Amino acid sequence: MLRKILIANRGEIAVRIIRACAEMGIRSVAIYADADRYSLHVKKADEAYSLGPDPVVGYLNSHRIVNLALQTGCDAIHPGYGFLSENAEFAAACERRGVTFIGPTAEVIRRMGDKTEARKAMIAAGVPVTPGSEGNLGDLDEALQVAKRIGYPVMLKATSGGGGRGIRRCDSAADLRRHYDRVISEATKAFGRADVFLEKCIVNPRHIELQVLADNHGNCIHLYERDCSIQRRNQKLIEIAPSPQLDEAQRQYLGGLSVIAAKAVDYTSAGTVEFLQDENGRFYFMEMNTRVQVEHTVSEAITGVDIVEEQIRVAAGLPLRFQQHEIQRRGFAIQFRINAEDPKNNFLPSFGRISRYYAPGGPGVRTDTAIYTGYTVPPYYDSMIAKLIVWALTWEDAVSRGERALEDMVVHGIRTTKPYYLEILRHPEFRAGRFTTSFVNDHPELTEYTDKRRKEEFAAALAVAIAAHAGL
Ligand code: ADP
Ligand code: ADP
Ligand code: MG
Repeated sequence: MLRKILIANRGEIAVRIIRACAEMGIRSVAIYADADRYSLHVKKADEAYSLGPDPVVGYLNSHRIVNLALQTGCDAIHPGYGFLSENAEFAAACERRGVTFIGPTAEVIRRMGDKTEARKAMIAAGVPVTPGSEGNLGDLDEALQVAKRIGYPVMLKATSGGGGRGIRRCDSAADLRRHYDRVISEATKAFGRADVFLEKCIVNPRHIELQVLADNHGNCIHLYERDCSIQRRNQKLIEIAPSPQLDEAQRQYLGGLSVIAAKAVDYTSAGTVEFLQDENGRFYFMEMNTRVQVEHTVSEAITGVDIVEEQIRVAAGLPLRFQQHEIQRRGFAIQFRINAEDPKNNFLPSFGRISRYYAPGGPGVRTDTAIYTGYTVPPYYDSMIAKLIVWALTWEDAVSRGERALEDMVVHGIRTTKPYYLEILRHPEFRAGRFTTSFVNDHPELTEYTDKRRKEEFAAALAVAIAAHAGL
């Protein structure tokens, strides 16, 4: 078994990994930029090392991180998500220097990180893929030809894109001409590669993804699907497992397909196979994420499998502890990404000191976060500050529990997406379990909630305080 792991990440996912280490009797080493000095992951790890004043470059400095792992006697590095997690060179550097990279091989990361190569691998494996260009586009003329062949609307996508960026819908040739150069320059800036490709745009799709786990002994299983259709600007806001929109036959089909996809590329560790479902119910492979995902929690909630622990065990060379028939699914789980953004103000980032934080509790409630009362949210990072996960036996109960837990949660001092999620939960389409990736766009009115409820709560609390003071 591994004895000591360096966590090359920050915030809630670093805390999540530290917790897995603690339960497994593995020592944990945190790294942190000065801006993260007061982050919970620094306090919770057994050891913590400063990366210096720059808020970001330290977390991306693979040479320094591998050195630090070796100097501190770590036998492995967990990259979390974002940062170096999908960097094939980093995984290769770990392999070269004798530190176990907790994830798939560098070769698989490289291959699946390239969306056109991933598409080719899936076509070869017989997995249905969104119609699109065969590989990367040579120039605008080729793009126009391909678009004409597959038919508008089309999606122009960065080949190495991620995090919902580098994607543009084009409804006409004029659109494609207008966006072509811009997407290329965006891709170059954000991902260091200029390659782009075209895909047929699936109109009003559902985003359905499968969690897979594979070991180095030829075993590969799935932990059922997640429905991540509630998105804004191609970024997930709410994730659900299993999807309330699939029937059992579709579920079995996708489960089998995801294992075929993973096996086709000799996948190892935890991974996610993402599909889009069109309005006729057909599924198309979209991409594979070769890391632990933000929303892995909902799959844990419905199966009881600790995905991070399984990643660590697989990295240590152990076989998976479960066969497919041993994976049992129970109930529904919903995750809310609590972002430091103001939904009423076009989701403008909202940073600063959290004057009061109270984590919701009660049955079926989990919070993963690195914040606490008095913590100052720095402006340099992703705006997600906490994840609230609820579980219940039925879809209806999970929705009610989500409402109750969101009401229960207190984050004062900054604006968050919490009140917006309450509006979504109260919407009849959501409650009925019927929604597509267009839901957020189609319901701009949900960002115009009033603070009436909060005022009522305050008045009630004040009345209680006054009564107590009067000795009633
Ligand atoms: P998930 O696919 O797990 O739902 P996201 O797509 O929301 O995760 O990405 C998780 C985190 O990783 C976010 O902070 C996002 O900005 C970052 N991220 C994901 N892919 C990339 C990438 N290719 N380049 C830079 N950052 C990325
Ligand atoms: P990322 O690597 O940033 O996660 P994805 O390729 O997974 O990028 O796409 C992110 C989101 O963009 C999807 O969940 C979906 O909502 C939307 N999207 C991507 N491709 C298409 C498509 N061909 N048709 C419709 N929507 C798409
Ligand atoms: Mg994706």
